[in-house]
Amino acid sequence: MKKYIPPLAFLLIFETVAVTLWLTKDNLFYLLNFSYIGISIALGVTLFIREYPHARRVTQLLVGCYMLFYLGLICQENMQIEGFWYYLFTGVFEAATIHYAVAKIFGPLLFGRGWCGYACWTAMVLDFLPYKQPKQPRKRWGWIRYVTFVLSLVFISALFLAHVGDLERIMFWAFLIGNGLYYAIGIALAFYCQDNRAFCKYICPVTVFLKPMSYFSLLRITCDSSKCVSCGKCKRVCPMDVDITDNSRTRANGTECILCLECVKACPRKAL
Ligand code: SF4
Ligand code: SF4
Ligand code: SF4
Repeated sequence: MKKYIPPLAFLLIFETVAVTLWLTKDNLFYLLNFSYIGISIALGVTLFIREYPHARRVTQLLVGCYMLFYLGLICQENMQIEGFWYYLFTGVFEAATIHYAVAKIFGPLLFGRGWCGYACWTAMVLDFLPYKQPKQPRKRWGWIRYVTFVLSLVFISALFLAHVGDLERIMFWAFLIGNGLYYAIGIALAFYCQDNRAFCKYICPVTVFLKPMSYFSLLRITCDSSKCVSCGKCKRVCPMDVDITDNSRTRANGTECILCLECVKACPRKAL
């Protein structure tokens, strides 16, 4: 039973968040929302322990579809970075601000970029593309993420400064158009770079939050050097070009790790 402690721990963490927000905000939605996400993650981790090969994808589809179709399209909540700025500017600690605080700003101190591996609805689609392992060396295009980050902030600031009316409706359209653009650029870039995760590596503005916070992540993969035979398989299968054999926090592309566990599955010596 000891091996099931990690999924139980995840469930407990999410239930704590669910109950705390439910009681403090007096809103049943938070209980249902975070319980659903916690159960989806616990299920994925349990399936991984039971060696089901598509365990991560199960969680990614359960959480990603819920966020995109239910929260985004049906509830019309803009959970993109523009939605975060919007709610932040209005001073409302709801929806996107809570989502960002839990998944992308403070959560990564605990679970790194687990969001990127198990929940993001953009990557959920990109991970269906054929280049699961990058076929080209990494490019030096990481600066683009800062441009998209600033553009998202400028866009929302301009809406407020111009006193544009019916902002809720504009935010919904921004969600639809923004997602459409993300998918179009992400898919085109994946084929151009022969790398499913090229969008994550170079364009995604959310990484401006995710990367520095995940540097301090409590949950991280380490390598037992006494077992490692330097076969290089872990690096070949890694979608994010992480040098996972180096245990230091400054390891190459360390803040890119999405905890997908492909390296763990590939290691012939169970060193990871
Ligand atoms: S880097 Fe951005 S697009 Fe990629 S998985 Fe993370 S949040 Fe999603
Ligand atoms: S280092 Fe391992 S867990 Fe992290 S992204 Fe690469 S393959 Fe996935
Ligand atoms: S796959 Fe395992 S044995 Fe091979 S280099 Fe990576 S950690 Fe070492």
